[in-house]
Amino acid sequence: MGVAHQRRLAGAPLKRPALVPLPSAVSTPRASAWSRLRVAVSGVCVLSTFACDAPTASRPKPAFAPTTLTGGVLYRWESGTTIRVWVVNSPPSAAPLDLGLATRQAIERWNAVAAFREFTLKSATRIDEAQIIIYDGVAALPVSVGTCGFNPRGAAGYTYFCPGTAAVGAIPRAEILPLSQDGPGLTTVVIRLDRGRVSNQSSYNAIVAHEFGHALGIGAHSDLPTDVMFGLPTAETPSERDRATLRWLLGQHPALVL
Ligand SMILES: [Zn+2]
Repeated sequence: MGVAHQRRLAGAPLKRPALVPLPSAVSTPRASAWSRLRVAVSGVCVLSTFACDAPTASRPKPAFAPTTLTGGVLYRWESGTTIRVWVVNSPPSAAPLDLGLATRQAIERWNAVAAFREFTLKSATRIDEAQIIIYDGVAALPVSVGTCGFNPRGAAGYTYFCPGTAAVGAIPRAEILPLSQDGPGLTTVVIRLDRGRVSNQSSYNAIVAHEFGHALGIGAHSDLPTDVMFGLPTAETPSERDRATLRWLLGQHPALVL
């Protein structure tokens, strides 16, 4: 089954069906100051086996619970994954914002958080080798998003993935979202930006960094504006709190593998 679900940052009640949604962040001084990340999970299985190859002794405690937006479902990439990221070129637009720059910065800063190489974000050389595709809404949606309910309207940033039928051991895996062109691809996560809701490059950078936090496994927003994962992000670099939260979850058993 699939459920999609949205949540206002302002605190509208969060319904919790059997699925897991996820909001996302947006920093939009004007327009509706909220964004959302949506995730739907078709079911939560009992985890029995998962190869955990990272030491746990030095993992910090999370600064905030990383699954508050997913109904408790923890998701992440398999440990050791090289996550290739493809940036879709944006057509000329009124807002001169550089998505490639924002993405390169986010990749560099989040990569520094993985103490045990649990993941490595890397630029893809072709779209069909990318696990993550990031694009701005001025460009066409680059994938087919299936049935989970892709609905980014009103959000400056939006991270999307959808549970599939495949699994890693007993753990469900996010489905591969077929490319709109260029074959089936490997993409499980799509990040959409809306430059029309962003006032400047710094704000754009902050939102992109925030969405990558979601894409790496943080299914939550923090309460502090100094955190990248704050609901209305302005910070461009993961704080100690962001870092601790991600590093902690990287040592946990996931209920969904991206
Ligand atoms: Zn968010």
